[in-house]
Amino acid sequence: MSVVLRKRGAVNSFPRKTEFMYHVYNCLAKARLSFSSFDIQDHQIPVVFVSKGRAAGMAKFKKTALGVTYNLEFNIDAINKDWDEMIGNTIPHEVAHIVDHAINGKFNGHNRIWQRICMILGGDATRTHSIPVEKARQTRKVLYKATCGTEIWLSMQMHNQLQRGGIRIVRKTGGRLTSQECTGRMQAV
Ligand SMILES: [Zn+2]
Repeated sequence: MSVVLRKRGAVNSFPRKTEFMYHVYNCLAKARLSFSSFDIQDHQIPVVFVSKGRAAGMAKFKKTALGVTYNLEFNIDAINKDWDEMIGNTIPHEVAHIVDHAINGKFNGHNRIWQRICMILGGDATRTHSIPVEKARQTRKVLYKATCGTEIWLSMQMHNQLQRGGIRIVRKTGGRLTSQECTGRMQAV
């Protein structure tokens, strides 16, 4: 499956897009060469560009009955401002999240397992400075859709609580969140 997970706000063109995509595909090719169990092809990973949000890049994941979808998202403002950082570090950083999830079955955050992958892909695993400091501790999130229809990204800690039987109430609407309301969508920045 190769479905774009973002519903709106994607940017179709910007200067040097072709060149940027070349570097993304180069990194994915390097990942397939370096990790024999990583065999996801380029066309299976839509690359989405956005102009909003604080993250320079993001790796997204969704599991459905039909299969698994991965998306890479990059912020074009960050690309315009800091090209070298995006090419040299953000691309390997985000691709490493996808490789990690694909071969290990989960997002390992920025721990040693992910760091090793990131370094092999040429990224600087010791630096995650493009991520806002206050968000750095919660880089993995899971999307829930409450019984009232509200969509909420929950931290892994909250996700685990609900999976163990916990219940949350959406204050504004009174909607409920339990393990049932998990959409299966995840993201790592
Ligand atoms: Zn990250």
